Amino acid sequence: MSELRFDNQVVVVTGAGGGLGKAYALFFASRGASVVVNDLGVSHKGEGKSSKAADVVVDEIRAAGGKAVANYDSVENGEGIIDTAVKNFGRIDVLLNNAGILRDISFKNMKDEDWDLINRVHTYGAYKCARAAWPHFRKQKYGRVINTASAAGLFGSFGQANYSAAKLGQVGFTETLAKEGAKYNIIANVIAPIAASRMTATVMPPDVLENLKPDWVVPLVAALVHSSNTTETGGIYEVGGGHVAKLRWERAKGALLKTDDSLTPGAIARKWNDVNDFSQPEYPTGPADFMGFLENGLKMPSAPK
Ligand code: NAD
Repeated sequence: MSELRFDNQVVVVTGAGGGLGKAYALFFASRGASVVVNDLGVSHKGEGKSSKAADVVVDEIRAAGGKAVANYDSVENGEGIIDTAVKNFGRIDVLLNNAGILRDISFKNMKDEDWDLINRVHTYGAYKCARAAWPHFRKQKYGRVINTASAAGLFGSFGQANYSAAKLGQVGFTETLAKEGAKYNIIANVIAPIAASRMTATVMPPDVLENLKPDWVVPLVAALVHSSNTTETGGIYEVGGGHVAKLRWERAKGALLKTDDSLTPGAIARKWNDVNDFSQPEYPTGPADFMGFLENGLKMPSAPK
């Protein structure tokens, strides 16, 4: 059986000094790609700084006969990271926005610093890297992006208001990149992974972590960013421990009320069952869906009085 290869491709992995990023970097290098191993070398709370994290992974790739170069910038300096790819390997094909930190704290005690730091790394960092790669992708009419969300962003998680906001932000960000990139063969998808890393080491029991190797997240990412994927874009995937599933938005039947004085809180309360009726769901994929739905609804003779 032939394997998915990435020969002659340049893959940038942010936060590749450990956890998921390291697993991506080792895999793509083993499948022929030239890899930029970016890592700022911080603690899981974003403290400190070290070149060691990236160097260790680069050494491991080179020792196995692969091609890799280190970059020690924060993802906030996306230009520097993409420059490293272009200067060393002449191009960039794949961007894996993976770097991340946590500043968990109950919302009651959250400080601006906790909020800002998380958003600088996850939101601004992913933006800066994608923004720097974008002109290259458009020019060569080829680009593949994976952004990293989290179940915390999709569903909320106690003590992670900052992280949840930033991680759900990756979903909207990805969906827009997918739409803007389509014309240029730029494919963008977002994953909500679950994997054993220092990020999860303290919050999950060891026997569960055993089954959650970062390696089990890699194959989905590789399939999505491979050149053979020309259609799957703007997708949200839950992945980890051997489980892979796509997620999507679901709209209830809803209530369509007349837009006049009769549209009162009480009128909505009386239609609450319809607002919550998921027995015949729709699966919207863009703002235009909603407008179409509204226009059709308004034309419906049976629109509620
Ligand atoms: P990890 O802590 O093992 O690795 C993250 C890496 O990012 C570290 O090596 C760190 O030094 C680096 N990094 C942090 N800030 C950086 C910055 N500003 N610039 C460059 N590098 C920086 O964590 P992980 O579990 O491998 O997480 C990888 C990604 O997956 C993160 O975005 C995380 O939020 C997300 N995620 C992980 C899980 C999980 O179960 N592990 C779940 C949901 C989401």
